Amino acid sequence: MTGDELQAVRERLPEYVEAVTTKSRGGFYTCPLCGSGTGPNKSGAFRVQGDRWRCFSCGKSGDVLDLIGEVERIPDFRDRARRAVELFGIDGSMKPAGAAPEVRRESKPEPVFISPETMQASFTAYERNNFAWWLCGVFGESKALELALAYRLGTSKHWPGAAVFWQIDDAGRVRRGKVMLYDSETGRRVKEPGNMVAGVHWLLGMADRKPPACLFGLHLAAADRSKPVAICESEKSALIGSGFVPEFIWTATGGKGCLNRAMLEPLQGRRVVLFPDLNAFDDWTEKAKGWPGVEVSDVLESRASAEDRAAGLDVADYLLREQGLNV
Ligand SMILES: [Zn+2]
Repeated sequence: MTGDELQAVRERLPEYVEAVTTKSRGGFYTCPLCGSGTGPNKSGAFRVQGDRWRCFSCGKSGDVLDLIGEVERIPDFRDRARRAVELFGIDGSMKPAGAAPEVRRESKPEPVFISPETMQASFTAYERNNFAWWLCGVFGESKALELALAYRLGTSKHWPGAAVFWQIDDAGRVRRGKVMLYDSETGRRVKEPGNMVAGVHWLLGMADRKPPACLFGLHLAAADRSKPVAICESEKSALIGSGFVPEFIWTATGGKGCLNRAMLEPLQGRRVVLFPDLNAFDDWTEKAKGWPGVEVSDVLESRASAEDRAAGLDVADYLLREQGLNV
């Protein structure tokens, strides 16, 4: 299947959605995968935007081929493509089995930074922000507020109680925003009914115009060059680290797999210490080999019990435990 054919198939998404699901009484599509109609915030679980779909209840998303695969239980990409051709009557010669699917070749649209106004509009309603509530429980109100302001923590209406973590680069540009829902009691991510993570570009209908990611907290590292920089995995760990171990400027990659060398470029010439979560130690150690000035902390790795490993202890858990706080 050529790139053009693939694109033609992708554009048939609305048609396929119409074919496999119905609208609920409220006028929203019912998710053909999990059956949710209204979604967690009663504004529709299943959304179609351009050639992409996403369900905010079960957290699944993708293009029309992914949906065909899910609905018709077709795991293999080539089989999905064949089925799409059958459904939509698009003539495409299939690649022989084993060949990699052809990737859509199009000039990439220009990346769009998020406007400062959009970010600023999120600096509100911390009383409706579960993560901010939990942070107050850990640090007390004034310290929690100080941390929230430093990291530019936002509140999102996307899910009731959701927070926005903005990636602000060393030039002060807002590269990305990540909306996540936390539990205000436990400080843990809410993962039911769906994954409850959404990118701001996606929400703004600009999913394909994201600038490259930068470290969460990079703006703080740029503002204070006197301190070494700690890099951990989650945004939450960065805030917790900043509160308890202020000897470092704490930043986060936003995910285990997100660490890359380009992210570290703005930190050239500085002491950088990676604080991987337990499950990322080997991966990050391997990646950081030969990155000048970058150390990998084994503080978690060297102290973890078998129980900790089974529980997948992360940097925030460890720091909270060090403070005698229940995790
Ligand atoms: Zn669903």
